[in-house]
Amino acid sequence: MSVFFRVNSCDFVDLCYVPDKIDPRINTNQTNKECVRRARTSIDQKRMRHLNSFLLCTFIVLAATGTRSQVRDVLPIDVLHYDINLEPDITQKTVRGTATIKFTSNVQGLNSVEFDCGDLLVDSVKQSGIPRDFVIADHHLKVTVPTLNRGQSSELAIAYHGAPKWGIRFFPDLSQVYTIFSTSQWTVCIDAPEDKATLSLTLTVPEKLTAIANGKLVSTTRVGNTQKSVWEQKAPIPTYIFGFSIGPFRTLSEARRGVEFQYLITSFSDQEARKIFRDTPDMLDFFESRAGVRYADKTYSQVLAAGGVEQEMSSFTAMNEAYGKKLLANEQELWLGAHEFAHQWWGNMITCRDWNHFWLNEGIATFMAAAYIEHRFGRDAYLTEIETYRSNYEKVRAAGKDKSLVFPDWLHPTREDRTLVYDKGAYVMHLLREEMGDRAFWNGLKIYTRRFFGKSVVTSDFKAAMEEANGKSLDRFFSKWVYLNGD
Ligand SMILES: [Zn+2]
Repeated sequence: MSVFFRVNSCDFVDLCYVPDKIDPRINTNQTNKECVRRARTSIDQKRMRHLNSFLLCTFIVLAATGTRSQVRDVLPIDVLHYDINLEPDITQKTVRGTATIKFTSNVQGLNSVEFDCGDLLVDSVKQSGIPRDFVIADHHLKVTVPTLNRGQSSELAIAYHGAPKWGIRFFPDLSQVYTIFSTSQWTVCIDAPEDKATLSLTLTVPEKLTAIANGKLVSTTRVGNTQKSVWEQKAPIPTYIFGFSIGPFRTLSEARRGVEFQYLITSFSDQEARKIFRDTPDMLDFFESRAGVRYADKTYSQVLAAGGVEQEMSSFTAMNEAYGKKLLANEQELWLGAHEFAHQWWGNMITCRDWNHFWLNEGIATFMAAAYIEHRFGRDAYLTEIETYRSNYEKVRAAGKDKSLVFPDWLHPTREDRTLVYDKGAYVMHLLREEMGDRAFWNGLKIYTRRFFGKSVVTSDFKAAMEEANGKSLDRFFSKWVYLNGD
């Protein structure tokens, strides 16, 4: 889809999502410095935090390419599993790998299959060891295959290499590298959020570094002065939350109700790290109780990495070290950690079917961060969060740029569009809570979460679940606040 993610001043490029292309005129170093400067007052801190959140997860949004951002009835293929072997070269800022992709045809007479490949260079494509013809155009890899009919499966092994400009960030001086949402920049895949698949990810890294990736670490082998770590993601997930972080991390861990929490740090002391992450187990309890669904994995890891990263991935989250410093200075500054953890339910496991319904990922996760703050610090702290969302939204509305939370397309989202998805989305969740009352609202969220856990959703799915709990139509509310059709 050629989704452009336009990065405006103060939007942290790495925070969220996956631009297919980023405006090259933007100097991200200056951008970050400006954000840091603005963060010196508490008001601007809050403002900046929410601006960051646009990308946070948003990088998400974009990965897709061209037509893939559009709503389609059905994708031509359904990818079942990715087996990715990747060797990032932190010094050279390059990647080399193979992606073995198992898929099923959704259509009759399929003669070619298409994947997103960012700016990667494809070296070969093989099907059962037989080389297949392929072409690359507009960031898509198109492979000619013997005819497949609906329901028939096959597997392609794609060897590639490249020097991605985004989607992955290298810090040679710090020996760190991590992914940032635009998965097709570092492996061939299908970016569309509705195509969930399982993943085996093998990372080859220098032996002294620590890697964290999706799912469970199943083996580590030493090969010369490198180590290969193999990660298995058993539950199907969208590709935008495939990812890894590699660096000279120290790992602390603790267990709570069958979940192992890991905290990966470099510059913080153990004592500081435990203070920074001390609310994580309580967040697990809170989100599970509100979701009515247990956390999906056995481990949840949080990495404090270099740069401005703020990104949820399946079973782990990468955040910047500034978050840790803020939290050490003020225990209430945990919005980011709560927001990203909330994505493990709303976003990662219940995923917008396409980016036009992105508010179901971001608006709900943003609201749930405020709900956790209410649980942790009380009603006044919650209302302060909600007021921030409302105020950010009101500025967009006052500028005449209010829109339906369901976008006709998310091809060229503006800064204001992202404010709508995050802040208006969260504010509307609060208003819906007020409309329905606490009992019905939280019951509705449980119905929605349980019904669609592991699936893809559109806004009408959410509305139906909330109406079921409400016992009567929410047409008027959704018309006014979600679809913007008037009162
Ligand atoms: Zn988010």
